[in-house]
Amino acid sequence: MTDNKHPENTAPTTNFIRNIIDDDIATGKHSGIITRFPPEPNGYLHIGHAKSICLNFGIAEHYQGHCNLRFDDTNPEKESEEYMHSIREDVEWLGFEWSKLQHASDYFEQLYHFAIELIKSDKAYVEGLSADEIREYRGTLKEAGKNSPYRDRPTEESLDLFTRMKAGEFTDGEYCVRAKIDMAAPNINMRDPVIYRIKHMHHIRTGDEWCIYPMYDFAHCLSDAIEGITHSLCTLEFADHRPLYDWVVENVNSPSTPRQYEFSRLNLSYTITSKRKLNQLVSDKHVESWDDPRMTTLSGLRRRGYTPNAIRTFCERIGISKNDSVIDMSTLEDCLRDDLNQTALRRMAVLDPIKVVIDNFPADDILEVAAANNPNDESTGKRKIPFTREIYIDANDFMVEPARKYFRLAPDREVRLRGSYIIKCHNYLSDDNGKVTEIHCTYDPETLGKMPTDRKVKGVIHWVSASECVDAEIRLYERLFNVENPATEANFLDAINPDSLDIKQAKVEPILAEAQANERFQFERVGYFCADKTSTKDKLVFNRTVTLRDNWAKKK
Ligand code: ATP
Ligand code: MG
Repeated sequence: MTDNKHPENTAPTTNFIRNIIDDDIATGKHSGIITRFPPEPNGYLHIGHAKSICLNFGIAEHYQGHCNLRFDDTNPEKESEEYMHSIREDVEWLGFEWSKLQHASDYFEQLYHFAIELIKSDKAYVEGLSADEIREYRGTLKEAGKNSPYRDRPTEESLDLFTRMKAGEFTDGEYCVRAKIDMAAPNINMRDPVIYRIKHMHHIRTGDEWCIYPMYDFAHCLSDAIEGITHSLCTLEFADHRPLYDWVVENVNSPSTPRQYEFSRLNLSYTITSKRKLNQLVSDKHVESWDDPRMTTLSGLRRRGYTPNAIRTFCERIGISKNDSVIDMSTLEDCLRDDLNQTALRRMAVLDPIKVVIDNFPADDILEVAAANNPNDESTGKRKIPFTREIYIDANDFMVEPARKYFRLAPDREVRLRGSYIIKCHNYLSDDNGKVTEIHCTYDPETLGKMPTDRKVKGVIHWVSASECVDAEIRLYERLFNVENPATEANFLDAINPDSLDIKQAKVEPILAEAQANERFQFERVGYFCADKTSTKDKLVFNRTVTLRDNWAKKK
């Protein structure tokens, strides 16, 4: 598979995180670098995750270190095997290899003992307040919180209650464990955060072994410490959690001291990068599935025809910083066009077929012409295309009364058929509504692969043989949202573009009958397309990956 090849021509760009790592290596703080990508298996990965994947795995590659894939499976409610599977598939598809595949649940026993350690050193206690009461006691940004009446519960009592919590003696919410930090801390995350809660729920990996689960802020930093992560990279919204991250690691007998660094999230115009919202699009049936080609999930992009190279190049181009911004969708699309222009085979497909009869060509003859598979890559050779008396061209390549600068077919005008002859229109038929139904032409047999010397013919159009072509369903996708930043709408669902899918019954070159699922093509003059995963010889289906140029910018 060429898909997983790394883009060797993209020089690794540096960024503030690499500068920190360079310093850490220079001062001898670290000799080896270990990072991790820690998704929660509660949905499919999206383009935003690609930024984090490329950063974490890219650093491990650059410093010849390690990067683990770690599932943050501490919340059994929303997690599933299907999500875990898709995440592994997406990371591999992007071309990365993890050093270790881990799960926060691998560490449940160790985490439990770390919590006991905190209780024993009087740095944690078992809380008896309800969730609502805890919220009331927490205070606000302006007001300090109040100590819980259970804060000074004797250590022995807390230890006993925690053991019984684990043994399943209590119901959800009856007790929890809180770190004993500071109820007056300006950072609310430090006001005695909950570190363990009771949840009688089946876990995808540990089954019914546990009915207490560690909270993210407790599990994450300690999982990093257990794995010896040197640089724990996450998005800016976790900056306020860093003091707690450090507090936990400092206050237990931690196997290592990882450091957290934050960078800005990727926001992409006209798209959603939130698993929760993406989930809603699927469950409310606004799209077909998580891998619907309109979704900016990695599986949706893959199905649409995106290449791993294009996504990795994109992540290199946008870089890593601490500035929040919205990246224009066209940046991603340009990376894709650059890649596909080099790699996609050229084919012809007629999306709005109209019949052309070549009156001076014998009825049952089939003549073979040849055209380059990819002019940017001579090693791909040429393919043969059948030329016959009746062909199809696209309806918009013919105008009864041609506009200015329209160089395509029109009455008494000539045009070149791509890879073939020059034809001239003599006549056309139309129905009662004036719609053109058939065009009559003659071809000039002297013009195969050469220009006539006595006249100039400017236009070139694509075509297929009417008798030899095959049928294909072609799905034209537009952006799923009509507004630049759907996430900031009161209801992002109101911003859905009702015309995001247009299905065409097209006529395509016969060689496309052999198209394999996921194979990518340029349909000449039309765009880049990819055989859908459901496409078969009997029912060909192609997804439009991207238009040849940025039509959207033009429209705006
Ligand atoms: P979502 O908001 O979509 O649920 P998340 O941050 O909750 O995303 P996780 O599974 O926790 O999803 O994310 C795994 C890693 O990916 C985290 O380190 C997170 O910071 C990073 N990440 C998530 N979204 C983005 C994004 N838009 N840009 C960059 N990194 C991201
Ligand atoms: Mg999350």
